[in-house]
Amino acid sequence: MTTIEYESLPAVASEETATRAGTVVMKFGGTSVGDVERLKAVARRLVAAREAGNRVVAVLSAMGDTTDELVRLAHEISPRPKARELDMLISVGERISCSLCAMAIHDLGHEAISLTGSQAGIVTDTAHGKAKIVDIRARRIHEALDAERIVLVAGFQGVSTDFDITTLGRGGSDTTAVALAAALGAEACEIYTDVDGVFTADPRIVENARKLHAVSYGEMLEMAASGARVLQLRSVEFARNHDVKLHVRSSFSEAAGTWIREEDERMLEKALISGVTHKSVENVYRVEGVSAAQLFRALAEGGINVDTVVQTGPEIVFSADERAETDAALERLGVEWSTRDDLGQVSVIGAGMRSHPGVAAKMFSTLEELGIEPEIVSTSPIKIGCFVPRDDVERAVQGLHDAFELDRPEAARTHG
Ligand code: ADP
Ligand code: ASP
Ligand code: MG
Repeated sequence: MTTIEYESLPAVASEETATRAGTVVMKFGGTSVGDVERLKAVARRLVAAREAGNRVVAVLSAMGDTTDELVRLAHEISPRPKARELDMLISVGERISCSLCAMAIHDLGHEAISLTGSQAGIVTDTAHGKAKIVDIRARRIHEALDAERIVLVAGFQGVSTDFDITTLGRGGSDTTAVALAAALGAEACEIYTDVDGVFTADPRIVENARKLHAVSYGEMLEMAASGARVLQLRSVEFARNHDVKLHVRSSFSEAAGTWIREEDERMLEKALISGVTHKSVENVYRVEGVSAAQLFRALAEGGINVDTVVQTGPEIVFSADERAETDAALERLGVEWSTRDDLGQVSVIGAGMRSHPGVAAKMFSTLEELGIEPEIVSTSPIKIGCFVPRDDVERAVQGLHDAFELDRPEAARTHG
């Protein structure tokens, strides 16, 4: 029997890792648990992992479009639902998946227990709708694992330090899984989804995109931040900070997927660029009559993550995902502002570009040949992002994918 009491996350991770070998965290996304047959298939997969001798913790998302449906319902009843109540509502979807899957596991002759985020000991701050995990009190999970049960944890949610139910932001089940993997000292965190891994571009847009064998944390952070929604951004940050290796793979096959881990020379040998990502819509704001310090303080107080910022003279242009909150913060500030949503963003990402000039040149000449004019450009050491008209985004993605030859076998980094 375990002797662990409620422990903070770093303590659990460092002290217990050695004795918790053989723990696997397996996360299944919405499509992967989309109907009863798929839930049964997940149950079989979890049982197989258990029969192979692992201590199995599963994190499940809500079935199919359940979360979208619940959000829609909330807005049907109220134009501005209270954040606390919205979290109470939308956290329900994950509970449905976990309890149903536990039933299916019982029918396969194994023990299982479903837990809400709160029951699993996932403690968050009080920021409803985008709460951050501050602690994992894993005692109950350990006890269930010691009792040879498969543990199913409802993704995307926790309980706040004020004892309210919180959610972690859209796509947040990824973060639940990574945080649990860190707290339980799991060997790896497996993210099962509806594509075969992380691709050189969204495989739903670029038919000849290649599955990447390995991607560094830094690259994956940039990819997630610039639109590759296959992993929630915060889950990648968490994985990097706690050294959790991620394996993104298909729910529907046994094939190996993509490993997200520390950068390795071999990753860069074969291909400079790891991928082309995009966001179909960007909310771009133009503000005048306020200092940058005042503006960004007000946005920070509103809990808004600002993305690209360009300042020319008295005018500040920036992009932010949280439309309603940003509008409200600017209203409160009482400044002159306007917004446009006719732009999207296309980005080229690759750790190799740090040491190889010419990537920007190729990106701009490719866009020029396609007759696409970037309106705003944002860069980091391993990313170049161009804001382009929304209607041109997909053409730009395909054009850049071709220009950087990401359809070639080398792009997959099979040996990295
Ligand atoms: P889940 O429900 O399993 O969490 P998501 O819908 O959140 O799945 O993420 C998977 C989707 O991410 C894929 O269906 C794919 O369309 C999209 N996607 C965007 N960019 C990429 C990329 N570079 N590689 C893989 N998938 C991507
Ligand atoms: N169900 C939640 C969402 O749709 C969380 C997740 O799937 O990761 O955003
Ligand atoms: Mg997701």
